Amino acid sequence: MSNRENLRQLLLQLDDRGYKAYRDIKGSYQFTDFTLIIDRVQGDPFATPSQIRVIAPQSVAGFPTQLYQTPAREIALRDYLTRKFDSVVKNFSSHRGTGNSGLIAITYVGQSVLERTCVFVTDKSVEVRFIVGLPGRGRSISGRQAGEMLCEDIPLIVNQALKYSSLNAKAIQDHVETVEDAEWLRQELPKRGLVAFIPDGAILPRTSGVDDRPLSDEAVPFQSPPSLRVKFTCPNRGLVTGMGIAKGVTLIVGGGYHGKSTLLRSIELGVYNHIPNDGRELVVTNPAAVKIRAEDGRSIASVDISPFINQLPQNRSTRQFSTTNASGSTSQAANIIEALEAGTELLLVDEDTAATNFMIRDRRMQQLVAKDKEPITPFIDKVRQLYTDCGVSTILVMGGSGDYFDVADIAIAMDNFQPQDVTKEAKEIALKYRTERLKEGGDKFGSINPRILLPESIDPSRGNREVKLKVRDVDEVVFGTEEIDLASVEQIAERGQLRAIAEAIVYAKRQYINGESALPEILDGVMGDIESKGLDILSNLPEGDFVKFRRFELAAALNRLRSLKVK
Ligand code: ADP
Ligand code: MG
Repeated sequence: MSNRENLRQLLLQLDDRGYKAYRDIKGSYQFTDFTLIIDRVQGDPFATPSQIRVIAPQSVAGFPTQLYQTPAREIALRDYLTRKFDSVVKNFSSHRGTGNSGLIAITYVGQSVLERTCVFVTDKSVEVRFIVGLPGRGRSISGRQAGEMLCEDIPLIVNQALKYSSLNAKAIQDHVETVEDAEWLRQELPKRGLVAFIPDGAILPRTSGVDDRPLSDEAVPFQSPPSLRVKFTCPNRGLVTGMGIAKGVTLIVGGGYHGKSTLLRSIELGVYNHIPNDGRELVVTNPAAVKIRAEDGRSIASVDISPFINQLPQNRSTRQFSTTNASGSTSQAANIIEALEAGTELLLVDEDTAATNFMIRDRRMQQLVAKDKEPITPFIDKVRQLYTDCGVSTILVMGGSGDYFDVADIAIAMDNFQPQDVTKEAKEIALKYRTERLKEGGDKFGSINPRILLPESIDPSRGNREVKLKVRDVDEVVFGTEEIDLASVEQIAERGQLRAIAEAIVYAKRQYINGESALPEILDGVMGDIESKGLDILSNLPEGDFVKFRRFELAAALNRLRSLKVK
């Protein structure tokens, strides 16, 4: 294997030559403390930067086994090192010429602790994958500066970011223990008959709509109402108390601007773990929770929305309902049925993003518009059946309609950002002021029929060119000639999840979408392979920006593919 001096010499020889000559540096180099591997070399200074790996043996990195011996701890340590690497490289990354010249960066991370392909820790080594903008002036190579970056800066970065002895041991311990406690709490939920837990003292509001860090000064810490308070003894933190939300139907009510949506949002993201001091680090939710909202304009491919919608104008079938442009109510119905098809156990609905005519139809409207003129059976008539027939719970923010008192097990009122248990009052009011609604939609929820996807309808190639997958921003995946809009899929936490989902669709098509398998089996296959063999199965090259996603978000991407056809 070549060594650091060989690489430096090579880069000096390349100085001033055409940028494309950089491809000669692809390969592995033995440095004193680690191996540097150049996996992919960019074609010009403006292209996606080059991809580099560093592998440092544990004899150098020196991480104690206890920090990565369980899956939860391992993911937490990898997450910690990603953040550390990110903060260290920021001091080295600088403009050194045209375009991306001089950039050093690791994948973007937010407030969640997720499994990612940018850092791996094993008994043998620590591996980090990142990108480097190889420096150039216009179209010519700046070889001396490339030598500084690769041969001088990277060893310093490794020293500062990847050696246990130079890191804050206490902060790392806190990181892994916090994640371990959250993971433990989430696993305890079903044993207590709960679908979500929000600890006392949690800080739920965020800095702003575009900044996901905790609101600092004015935040009111969460306090459970005494009647809903549960206790846990976590493995590390010990006694933790807070509000448990039981299985069934839970209604969150309260005046406008009193913190209802903020509470629901933290429950949505409680399917993921969070970093210490996020404020939501011990907020945990059933991992099969899916946020449901209206999403007019989306496409729908042969979904049986008949539990909610029947007798559309022009006699359109709702047993296999397809459209290229769904309405608010049909999109919300499809979102629910698709979540059930993928195996959800908890639906999360916020009135702010729901279609009113899908949520409620009151006595007066029932009187004015007869049932045979109204295709929609509102959610209020189905929410209990969802629980009794399908075992699926719902947490619903609904400040605008007391009709829901009749169907809720628990009612929580947000009052000045504090929850109150108002179940008893709500039940009394429901008895005193009857809604006189007529029950709609029959006694049963209706059946869920998993769809069989047709492989020829999923084509990630543009014309005859090879597979083209691009991630534009946090909300959109470019897939072949199509754009999949995921802006309304609210439980996607990081851009890297989109990168991985895009590749997972290609993988699913290659391995499991055969014209015979139903969607749930396809999801089982892909998620099972990722579970057992890791995210690297999604690509030939060792990619550094894949982030673990859930089956529900993969299903959501497939379901929003406009070309999708089913048998
Ligand atoms: P609602 O859904 O009841 O109308 P929101 O959840 O949208 O209310 O919250 C309204 C505002 O209050 C938001 O700006 C939010 O960040 C802020 N907020 C929510 N919870 C808290 C809290 N615990 N402490 C301080 N501010 C909060
Ligand atoms: Mg709201």
